[in-house]
Amino acid sequence: MSLKDIVRSNTTYFVPIQLIVTAFVSYYLFTFDYSLMWVVIGLGCYFLTGCLGITVTFHRYLSHHSYKMNKFFEYLFSFLGSMGGTGSTIGWVAVHKQHHHNSDKNTDPHSPKILGWKVLFPNYKFSMNKWSLRHLITNPFHLYLHEYYFLIMAVWGLLIFSFFGLNGFVFIFCFPIVLQIWISVLSNYANHLPGFGYRNFETHEDSINSSILALLTWGEGWHNNHHKYPSRYSFQYKWWELDISGLIIKAIKKN
Ligand SMILES: [Zn+2]
Ligand SMILES: [Zn+2]
Repeated sequence: MSLKDIVRSNTTYFVPIQLIVTAFVSYYLFTFDYSLMWVVIGLGCYFLTGCLGITVTFHRYLSHHSYKMNKFFEYLFSFLGSMGGTGSTIGWVAVHKQHHHNSDKNTDPHSPKILGWKVLFPNYKFSMNKWSLRHLITNPFHLYLHEYYFLIMAVWGLLIFSFFGLNGFVFIFCFPIVLQIWISVLSNYANHLPGFGYRNFETHEDSINSSILALLTWGEGWHNNHHKYPSRYSFQYKWWELDISGLIIKAIKKN
């Protein structure tokens, strides 16, 4: 399998899946009975996929190596992040490294400056430097997670349905996917939209800081701080820039 195949295979169905899941959950929310308890459970599951999975692990650990964590947490959180529907660790890290490498230039996979609103409907297709992904493509766990991504997601969804019924399927499985997908594309877009936030640093791209985005993404919205110091595990710079993910990392990281 070439690396180009690796990068492409988990994003081809990104748009159809997000539209189907969004339609399904919206229909359910507006037409059936559901209790506040299930919404709270759904938000808790978004914390597992979005915060522990994507932000703490995919981004700050696997993409930037900004701290050390033990293998048990790495695999558990990688699995949880993958179940958010935005791809496996390998695909996610490849896209993100490309973003940092050429931010707001022609080969940036999600720059609003280059792609405009198309950032909201991504279909990532490009090859990537294998060397920068060597820690993932030489690891059987990450390779299997990538190769059987949709199969693993389907089995996970089926297991949740059999244990928790339709409510469980919608709020434990689908609800975090909808939040994860839409909040991800929104933050990819708005994090580089001049005027949507403020800048602490003059960097070589258009990154901004936004408290709204930081709240939605567990701290990822302090994006200008991140571009200035990409290898810092905490994105906080000013005292009031609350970075929940940075606090969690502080608690779990190995020294
Ligand atoms: Zn950026
Ligand atoms: Zn980054």
